[in-house]
Amino acid sequence: MQILQTIKEIRQACATARATAAKPATLGLVPTMGALHEGHLSLIRAAKKQCNIVVATIFVNPTQFGPHEDFSRYPRTFASDCALLEAEGVDILFAPTVEDIYPTGTSRTFIEVPGISDRLDGLSRPGHFRGVATVVAKLFNIVSPDYAYFGQKDAAQVAVLRAMVQNLNFPVNLIVCPTVRDAEGLALSSRNQYLSPEERTQALALSRSLVTATTHATKGLHNAAQLKSAILQDLQSTPALKIDYVEIVDPTTLEPIVDLQTGALIAIAAWIGKTRLIDNALIASSMS
Ligand code: AMP
Repeated sequence: MQILQTIKEIRQACATARATAAKPATLGLVPTMGALHEGHLSLIRAAKKQCNIVVATIFVNPTQFGPHEDFSRYPRTFASDCALLEAEGVDILFAPTVEDIYPTGTSRTFIEVPGISDRLDGLSRPGHFRGVATVVAKLFNIVSPDYAYFGQKDAAQVAVLRAMVQNLNFPVNLIVCPTVRDAEGLALSSRNQYLSPEERTQALALSRSLVTATTHATKGLHNAAQLKSAILQDLQSTPALKIDYVEIVDPTTLEPIVDLQTGALIAIAAWIGKTRLIDNALIASSMS
């Protein structure tokens, strides 16, 4: 695996990889912030199946963190991340510094997806999706992937990036991979490292409430307001959770819906101590 830091190096390496790969060359990009776990590795495996060149990136992107968020304490485990990526057969790891990506200290141009990037996490974390969309657009322009892989775990991010790709005509196919969970149902996240054993147990309330909600929905509870109050009630039985939001929305527009029969995204964000966790469930349309 080549490990590269500068934009010049990665561009050159991608061009060489395309020229020397079996034809047709297909390049898959897996953007991450590192502190890798099985969720990230599932994206790498999906890319390996579909593409003959796989590029992963590790970049803790400052522009997607708010001023009082966890940018400085975000887990950074570069050596073990490299070993994991190498073992998965990643061809190129792009691991730039903040200065490589933002030579002037921050971006002088931003991408906004109005109407989508200010919902769910975008509402709770103003500017978050502006930072995400901007850095992903930069990575697309730097790496020129045919496919890019993202996790359903970050459902609002998927909606923002799908809209960005469509609206700005990026020649890339977004592939969304299912959320990987631990044996007890907790969605894997780099931020789970912040949780004490007791908080980890409390965090299970998120996925548990989504399983219950999905069961209600598939058994015919299609009224979003009723389902939302059932979820809130469920979550409130874990007093350690501070609920940020519970929303039932259209998975593409992130606009609230009233009836789940057309398909829905049930999204939850909650604080456990100092850790903010998100999780979601997709309800398929029951209308044929
Ligand atoms: P991050 O490093 O948290 O920015 O995540 C990088 C990519 O991995 C994003 O597309 C995430 O949605 C995805 N990802 C994170 N956690 C999971 C998970 N538990 N299952 C599937 N994908 C995930």
